[in-house]
Amino acid sequence: MQTTTHQHDNCLRCGRTLTSVKSRATGYGPKCATKIRRTPTDLTDYKPHQVASARELIEDGAIVLLRSVVFVSVSTDGTETYKTAPNVCTCPAGLKGSRCYHQLAARMLLAA
Ligand SMILES: [Zn+2]
Ligand SMILES: [Zn+2]
Repeated sequence: MQTTTHQHDNCLRCGRTLTSVKSRATGYGPKCATKIRRTPTDLTDYKPHQVASARELIEDGAIVLLRSVVFVSVSTDGTETYKTAPNVCTCPAGLKGSRCYHQLAARMLLAA
């Protein structure tokens, strides 16, 4: 599966047409990418490596808004997809009730 190499024509956040190669790969225009990166999210429940993974997930375009507050996340090896919302996730950790970095990424995106 090659979900992470998918090209986006429009910004996932504001819908503007994306022109640069990087924006098309990540799915966010430069302004929206900066805003997402700078948005203060409550990170107290998360470990630094989870924060790093969540940022990576967003920058790789591996978490995409499906509808309202539900996202589709791609697993690190690209073989599976999970449904993610700010407080639930269908990944193995999420199903056990853990706060996975997918949920954190969803929060970052919704807060931006
Ligand atoms: Zn945008
Ligand atoms: Zn998860």
